[in-house]
Amino acid sequence: MWRFRGSVFNLIMAEIYDLITEKDSVDVYGARVHNLKNIDVSFPRNKLVVITGLSGSGKSSLAFDTIYAEGQRRYMETFSAYSRQFMGNMERPDVDKIEGLSPVISIDQKTTSKNPRSTVGTITEVYDYLRLLYARVAIAYSYKTGEAMVKMTEDEVIENILTNYKDTLVAILAPVVKGRKGHYRELFEQIRKQGFNKVRIDGEVQEVTPKMQVDRYKVHDIEVVIDRIKVGEKDVARLTQSVRSAMKMGKGVIKVMNHETQEAANFSKFLMCPTSGLSYDEPQPNTFSFNSPYGACANCSGLGFVREVDLDKFIPSKTKSIREGAIPALGEYKNNWTFNMVEAVLVRNEFDLDTPFEDLSEVCVGEMLNGTPDEITVSVTYNKYDKHKYSVKFEGLLKLIFENMVKGRGKKNQTRDYIELIDCPTCKRARLKKESLHFKIAGKSISDLANFDLKSLFDWVVEVESTLTERQQVIGQEIFKEIKTRIQFLLNVGLTYLTLDRPSGSLSGGEAQRIRLATRIGSQLVNVLYILDEPSIGLHQRDNHRLINALKDLRDMGNSVLVVEHDKDMILEADYVLDIGPAAGVHGGKVMAQGTPAELLKGNGVTADYLSGRREIETPEKRREGTGESLTLKGVSGNNLKNVDAEFPLGKFICVSGVSGSGKSTLITETLYPILSQHFYHSVKKPKAYTEMTGLDLIDKVIEIDQSAIGRTPRSNPATYTGVFTDIRKLFTELPEAKIRGYKIGRFSFNVKGGRCEECEGGGVKVIEMNFLPDVEVPCEKCQGKRYNRETLEVRYRGKSISDVLGMSIEDACLFFEHMPSILRKIQSLNDVGLGYLTLGQSSTTISGGEAQRVKLATELSKKDTGQTFYILDEPTTGLHFEDIRVLTEVLNRLVDKGNTVLVIEHNLDIIKLADHIIDLGPEGGEGGGEILFTGTPEELIKVENSHTGKFLKLEMK
Ligand code: ADP
Ligand code: ADP
Ligand code: ZN
Ligand code: ZN
Repeated sequence: MWRFRGSVFNLIMAEIYDLITEKDSVDVYGARVHNLKNIDVSFPRNKLVVITGLSGSGKSSLAFDTIYAEGQRRYMETFSAYSRQFMGNMERPDVDKIEGLSPVISIDQKTTSKNPRSTVGTITEVYDYLRLLYARVAIAYSYKTGEAMVKMTEDEVIENILTNYKDTLVAILAPVVKGRKGHYRELFEQIRKQGFNKVRIDGEVQEVTPKMQVDRYKVHDIEVVIDRIKVGEKDVARLTQSVRSAMKMGKGVIKVMNHETQEAANFSKFLMCPTSGLSYDEPQPNTFSFNSPYGACANCSGLGFVREVDLDKFIPSKTKSIREGAIPALGEYKNNWTFNMVEAVLVRNEFDLDTPFEDLSEVCVGEMLNGTPDEITVSVTYNKYDKHKYSVKFEGLLKLIFENMVKGRGKKNQTRDYIELIDCPTCKRARLKKESLHFKIAGKSISDLANFDLKSLFDWVVEVESTLTERQQVIGQEIFKEIKTRIQFLLNVGLTYLTLDRPSGSLSGGEAQRIRLATRIGSQLVNVLYILDEPSIGLHQRDNHRLINALKDLRDMGNSVLVVEHDKDMILEADYVLDIGPAAGVHGGKVMAQGTPAELLKGNGVTADYLSGRREIETPEKRREGTGESLTLKGVSGNNLKNVDAEFPLGKFICVSGVSGSGKSTLITETLYPILSQHFYHSVKKPKAYTEMTGLDLIDKVIEIDQSAIGRTPRSNPATYTGVFTDIRKLFTELPEAKIRGYKIGRFSFNVKGGRCEECEGGGVKVIEMNFLPDVEVPCEKCQGKRYNRETLEVRYRGKSISDVLGMSIEDACLFFEHMPSILRKIQSLNDVGLGYLTLGQSSTTISGGEAQRVKLATELSKKDTGQTFYILDEPTTGLHFEDIRVLTEVLNRLVDKGNTVLVIEHNLDIIKLADHIIDLGPEGGEGGGEILFTGTPEELIKVENSHTGKFLKLEMK
């Protein structure tokens, strides 16, 4: 088999090899990654191929951990041995061989920049082209008077004077001082020496006399009178000469004063306000960049927001001194750089580390938080003999702390409590300097455009292009073309409602992925294998065909497109489908079917059953009545919401629907949930604007169930998350062997010293750090991955050690703990939600989002609850196959049947049709949405004319 070794050349040769052998398929032999059962898979190249199957069946293991990983590894091998030593070698995935592999690119949902300087505009480059457009064709306006700024060549200035001052006596003035303080003795002396005898000082013409000077503490305008002349045809030569000299002395700017009225007008080679004389620099693309000092608003340095600190939270006890920990965000006092700087600020204000915070002066506190205007001297003591002094400009604790927060260091949540971001009062979120905001095309500044949703922006661009002058059109032609194609790609994948100024960090995973997809199509690469993970997430049925078409475009450009998807339309529109199954985990990992969608439909298996309609999630016969009471939320106006009132009837299954960008998340995750969690848990996340909330006393808690990991560390697992591990450990302490040895519950924990293996500190694995690559885990050689020491492992329940129990699948554990009701209840509910194949101790890092969500739901189900809980789920069907969705809906129904309220944000029609109550937002995304179109049952919704959801639901329910 062809080996890829050495260089890009070889990779290209391999490509050519594949081409001449007319390899028109990708062939995978003997894939064994994770749960894959040594499978052979083959799919055609240059086609749209969908991999489907139950959640946990092994789709990602095949697409990403096998095919993508191998593609990456081959790519790395094209680097020289020298560069590879810095990157480390990538491990070969557990697969015999893969043939016909082109270079692979994955378009995933994860990698969005959290940097606030990255926006939809910058990542799509549309904003960069707009900057170019503004630099070339925008018209500048004076921010003082609003007049259009003018700039003229010398000839134009002369022409202008000849027409406007015909037969008038004028003075030609060269401005030399503009709005500055000083006595200007030397300047006047110089002017006199050059032979000029008149100057105009602050609007008044005077003789230049020896030793002349002006009030040094006042602000002055000084112009040299170059010439006095009656404007007329016969003196054109003299006028020209004078204008030239004045321009030279005035550095491109002159004034012409009507001698009679004493009024002066400005003329400039540069952009200048004819009335006020205000001038702008020649615009460059940078002038419009908020990431450049030439364009950025100085107050917020281009972020559009500023930090404001809640001093009461930042400094909870003001009687403490800094040394005693007055600022908890800094941690305990240490002799480190930050504290050294704080000390320097204290000392220069005549305080010290032991001054109680409340005794510090306002100036001192201000400098500490926001920075010093000048350099301060910081003394650093490394040891007795090694002391240094540094002069630095201190930028303030808020900036330091905030940057840590942005970079993800420090105690994130804690810092969020202290620091709030507010709109920059100077630029009002526009991010740019005043000057930059006064360059306009058809009356709009570049920031106005960044605020337009993409659909409106596209329409505006098309319209404005035809209204420009011929000159502007010629200059702008190519730029307009680039802008239009790029926006068109974004519209094609359904992102009509996004704005260019939207920070990329605030995008949902699906949105970020679709942007990346659009940019890829724009980049016109060919012969690449693209791999995508559920690109339909967050997309309404209405926009689905656009996404599918975008993927087909990518294919038709000469690429292979491999998509992990559950969406019915996507599967049916694919050229080829791989169905992985039959179930999840150890029960999956096999190829159930491969072929065209038509071939798939003919076969049997769950996927085929659902696709062909042989199996379906049934629409309920009747809807729940609920308790008759509800939560009411009034006057919600965050983001695009149009001051809406919403009612959430309790004891029902509620579904919030609407096209992407219509405002669902804003209403629920950004308003309702923060209100409830503030009420029940005093959480600090501020809800978006609303006026009134009632009914809070009708529920006793709120629980948000998302697809995030069940724990922050690899030490979390289903057993610890559900709490069943505590019961199991208790059981172990009650065994005779444990009693004799005096083992307490801590002995059986892998998180504390005592019973665990100290070599790996109970992790069971050792982490090996790799340069530039993800860390690699290897089993601990001391305990062989068992996590405990020998003594602990000697205690056995029915022949199994605590480590054996953690390694047990949940299915097996249900039988094993059959006679232990408190343990059984918790694990049985995990089994009930279809997670029987996970092991009790499976690390949270290997549990998928869909699995994590079900672990959480199972935990809720196993609780003895009051039936007054309000559950919120945002797109719970993400990553789920039809059959998984059926299981999910059963779980949700059980929660509601117990009297609880379940609210889901969902596009999936199978979920919507199950709801007792639908709140449909729309009609469109972005500014065209934000209204509640409908509330009521699915049967009522399908009758609503202007609801996109209603239209599709009707097809589903017929
Ligand atoms: P799918 O993409 O079909 O949802 P995956 O390929 O993610 O399924 O997972 C298949 C199986 O492999 C699941 O049982 C999952 O728990 C397991 N798995 C996933 N990632 C890892 C990992 N890093 N280590 C061990 N097992 C894993
Ligand atoms: P949905 O959940 O229905 O997809 P969202 O509530 O996320 O819709 O968005 C509604 C509108 O608010 C959209 O126009 C979206 O672009 C805008 N929006 C959402 N989040 C933000 C944000 N963090 N900053 C600015 N605009 C936002
Ligand atoms: Zn600003
Ligand atoms: Zn160990």
